[in-house]
Formats: sequence, C-alpha cells, structure tokens
Amino acid sequence: MLVLVTGGTGYIGSHTCIELINEGFEVVILDNLSNSSFEVIHRIKEITGKKPHFIHGDLLDEKELQKVFNVYDIEAVLHFAGLKAVGESVHFPLRYYHNNVTGTLNLSKAMQETGTKKMVFSSSATVYSLHGTPPFNEETPLGAMNPYGRTKQMVEEMMHDLYHADPEWSISLLRYFNPIGAHPSGLIGEDPQGLPNNLIPYITQVCVGKLPYLNIYGNDYDTHDGTGVRDYIHVCDLARGHVLALKDLYNKRGVSTYNLGTGRGYSVMEIVETFERITGNRIPYRFTERRPGDIHVCLADPNKAALELGWQAEKDLTEMCKDTWKWQKNNPDGYSTAKKVVVTS
Ligand code: NAD
Ligand code: UDP
Repeated sequence: MLVLVTGGTGYIGSHTCIELINEGFEVVILDNLSNSSFEVIHRIKEITGKKPHFIHGDLLDEKELQKVFNVYDIEAVLHFAGLKAVGESVHFPLRYYHNNVTGTLNLSKAMQETGTKKMVFSSSATVYSLHGTPPFNEETPLGAMNPYGRTKQMVEEMMHDLYHADPEWSISLLRYFNPIGAHPSGLIGEDPQGLPNNLIPYITQVCVGKLPYLNIYGNDYDTHDGTGVRDYIHVCDLARGHVLALKDLYNKRGVSTYNLGTGRGYSVMEIVETFERITGNRIPYRFTERRPGDIHVCLADPNKAALELGWQAEKDLTEMCKDTWKWQKNNPDGYSTAKKVVVTS
C-alpha cells in the first residue's frame, strides 16, 4: 500500500508518516522544503527503521506532479502541503490562494488523470465562523475569517464538487483544532522559522531563554481566568486519526468531514502553569492587548470521529507539554541542531 504524503517533512505530516510506516504503509513524501528540513527523513528512519521515499518537488509544478503519479503506483494521498500562517495570509493573500488552492487543484488533477481517487486533506478549525457558539460540530456553519482559513474552506468546497462530478472519489476532510506536542522520542517536533506565531513554540523558546517573556494576548475574555481557551491536541493523536481516516476511505465513497480535537479546552494561563510545572522554570509573561481576530474560546465537538472512525484523543495536556519540552530541549535550534545528533541514513 503505497501512499503519497504531500508536506510530509512538515510538523504534522512527519508525525503521520511515522504512524503510517508503523501501520505497514509504504510512504512517498513530496515536499518543497519551504518550511521544513530534509533532516526529518533521517529522523523518521531513526524512529521507524524505514526510510520514506522523498521527492523534492512543488505542488505548483504540474509536470513534476504528473511524473510522480506515473512513476509510483500511488493508492491514496495524504495532503498536508500548504502555507499556514494566518497573519502572513492577510498580508500576502495571493501567495496563499496560489499555493494552497492552485496547489490542491494541480494535485487533484494529477490524481484524477491517473485514477488515484482517495484523499485525506488537512483542513482546519479556522473554517468555522467565529461568531458561532463553541463547541463546534461538523454542521456548524462555516465562515472563515481570514485568507488562510478561506483557502481551506475553498478546498473543502472543491472536494465536494469533485465528488459530485465523479462519485468514485473518497475524501476525508480533517479539521484540526490546535496541534501541539512532539514525538515521544524527542527526535521530531515543530520547528517554526523565525519568531513563532503560536503559543506553544513561543513558550518553549521563552523556556530555553531564546525569548525574554511571553506576551499574553488579553486577560479580559469571558473565560474562567480571562485568557483565551483552545482545544489543544497531541500531534501523535492527530497522526493516528489520519491513519484511521485513510483506512476508512477503502470502505466508502464520498466526502466525510471530521473534527480532530479533544473537546476539552485550556486557557493560556493553564498552559503557562503546566509548562512551569514540567520544566521547573518560571515563565515570565506580560498581559497585552487582545490579538486582532482572536476569539475567546475555540473548542471541538469530536463525537463524529469517535462514532465513525473509532478515534479519540488519548494524550492529556501534561503529556503534550512534556513531549514538546523534550523536543525543544534536545533540539534548541530545531533541525539545524542536526549535526550534533548522530543520524545514519
Ligand atoms: P508545516 O509548515 O510544518 O508543513 C507543511 C509542509 O508543506 C512544509 O514541509 C512545507 O515545506 C510544505 N509545502 C508548502 N507548500 C508546498 C508546495 N507548494 N509544494 C510542496 N510542499 C509544500 O505545517 P503543519 O503544521 O505540518 O501543517 C500541515 C497542514 O495542516 C497544513 O496544510 C496546515 O494548513 C494544516 N493545519 C495546521 C495546523 C497547525 O496548527 N499546525 C492547524 C490546522 C491545519
Ligand atoms: N497567544 C498568546 N501569546 C502568544 C501566542 C498566542 O497569548 O504569543 C494566545 C492566543 O491569543 C490564543 C492562544 O494563545 O488565545 C492560542 O493561540 P495560537 O496562535 O497558538 O492558536 P490559534 O489562535 O490559532 O488557535
């Protein structure tokens, strides 16, 4: 069972490759390395004992994509490749629409032409209208509020249209909530380039002394301690969800949508306290203005994935923070610390 993983050297894709290999799938990764490192391939081999095939390619290169599908006998695609920074998408919307929408269009075309009609797509909780009342279930009306979220919503619509035109397609749209954590080995994890936008990588960089303090965006929200609440999910739980969604595609046709979250929310202060407990360090922070576009609470209703895929998150917040911390401590400069780690190919 050969599967193509676009964006497979990225944060969520790399964890999913490990899960796929452990479940007996043969993996071909296609990634342009715009936000990841080739070192990930060595780390996957170190963890699983198997080296995935790697193609240094771009979804925007239609010819390259056709070649990939002609050379490899691919049964299904797990499609992670995309740009993901909400703030950046506001400043460079065309870059986001081109990469995320045109890229998926090219991929779907190459799949259609070679008869590969199974896809698991990385969608996001950002497709929900933030005016809705959490927890969000899959029927909650959509209304992405920024260009990044709209690329996800557009791709979801494209997938529905594709299936309506050709009912041989089986597609799973997975809406992730807030993926955090790292592989328990400490060998792979999230490696943001430049100043982190998200809470967890920001906190860990404060913990290792790379950043002086955390800015907490707002302490006057209508939550138990005034700080924003999110549904954090361990990236390994997320990876397991992908394998179950993929296996499910072999049993059915159509488009299925699933929230992947825990259904349990934690505030920024609770995250800070958990990291302080685990690391034994005090995390300096300051309360600042609310971040534009943020909502007070974002929470999944994960029941559909439990009922239909038999999936539910297993790892708790302590495990998420412990694994994140292990990765950060072992790799203070992310994958560019690689030379200090002995990895054989
Ligand atoms: P990531 O940036 O770590 O991984 C994405 C990978 O795609 C990178 O390795 C990058 O080099 C590659 N890529 C980007 N554009 C490409 C292109 N045109 N051709 C080939 N490769 C390309 O991001 P991630 O956190 O692993 O996210 C994976 C997917 O999940 C993305 O689609 C993202 O939008 C979605 N998602 C992420 C989160 C999150 O919080 N991390 C939440 C919801 C949804
Ligand atoms: N947050 C914060 N300081 C930061 C980054 C994030 O206080 O440096 C808060 C943010 O306002 C939100 C929560 O942490 O309440 C999670 O933010 P993140 O960007 O990680 O995820 P998202 O907002 O995309 O759900």
